[in-house]
Amino acid sequence: MSKEKACRTCHKLSEDVKECPVCKGTDLTTFWSGFSLVVNAEKSEVAQKMGVKTNGKYALRLSR
Ligand SMILES: [Zn+2]
Repeated sequence: MSKEKACRTCHKLSEDVKECPVCKGTDLTTFWSGFSLVVNAEKSEVAQKMGVKTNGKYALRLSR
C-alpha cells in the first residue's frame, strides 16, 4: 500500500502521481500528518482557511 503524497504548495493528497493534479506543482512529500476531507470547498471553513478551491483530501501538516 503506497502512502499518498501531499503537495507542498496546496496540500492536496494524491496517490501515484508525479505532479499535483490541482496546482501542477511537483514538490510532493510523503511526510505529512493528519488530513481533512473537503467535500464542499466553496462552503467549508477549513477549505477557505487553507485556500482550497477543489474538493478532495488535504494534508493538515507537512514536514520535511
Ligand atoms: Zn498542489
